[in-house]
Amino acid sequence: MNKKAVLITGAAGGIGACVAETLAGERYNIIITDVIPEEKAENTINKCKEKGAEVLYIQSDVSSYSSCEEAVKQSVEKFGGIYGLVNNAGIIKDALLMRMTEEQWDNVISVNLKGVFNMSHHVVPHMVKAKAGRIVSLSSVAGIYGNAGQTNYSSTKAGIIGFTKSLAKEVGARGITVNAVAPGFIETPMTANLPQKAVEEATSRISLKSFGSAQDIANAVSFLISDKASYISGHVLSVDGGMSL
Ligand code: NAP
Repeated sequence: MNKKAVLITGAAGGIGACVAETLAGERYNIIITDVIPEEKAENTINKCKEKGAEVLYIQSDVSSYSSCEEAVKQSVEKFGGIYGLVNNAGIIKDALLMRMTEEQWDNVISVNLKGVFNMSHHVVPHMVKAKAGRIVSLSSVAGIYGNAGQTNYSSTKAGIIGFTKSLAKEVGARGITVNAVAPGFIETPMTANLPQKAVEEATSRISLKSFGSAQDIANAVSFLISDKASYISGHVLSVDGGMSL
């Protein structure tokens, strides 16, 4: 039986790498895309291969429409189609609104939100043709509840929820599910430089009293990609240790 291929954006490190490695161990072939060159993603690529997956690495910037088009073209050439898309790539450029520059706003919107459009727009026609597919996008608790200093980031993560629900309605009849995962605070390079005071304040608001791991998020993504989630669409799955209670 041919393995299904899953494309994960921003998968050289952090949560994306953990999603790639987890799915590689669950009998999927893996397409890793990231802005960084292939040699810097070797660790993730090798771990996926060790788990038995065929791996295609494509250096690709999700904020570029043509770069996503090329990534999808190469993926379909290699694997014959794309069963799953994980829109994981994301950046932060935090500042209070009054101090936020236009560049900080535009960068975050281009990567986090337009990136989801860019990659989905090129992948969906192939899923429609196959009459099957899974799209999972990384939102955030910041997109549900807001977060001071993150008007740009929160807007993109709230936008992903609207995108997810709308696209789920558009493509459900074609056998495609579209869902989002909303992580709370997860230990990755993105949160590594938070000031100690912010870490303590965030931890105090988490019911389970600790940050989550990339594996906690990868487990949720893997479930939504799997056959076990075949009747779940347009859902936002919070994985936040009870932070949102
Ligand atoms: P991360 O460690 O910073 O990883 C993000 C990955 O995306 C990096 O490999 C990064 O490459 C890549 N990337 C950045 N810009 C890109 C672009 N234009 N095109 C393609 N790839 C790009 O972040 P993470 O913590 O794993 O976060 C993954 C996702 O989860 C993000 O969408 C994030 O918003 C979301 N999330 C994370 C948390 C958390 O607590 N960590 C909480 C809620 C939601 P470089 O390293 O070269 O920049």
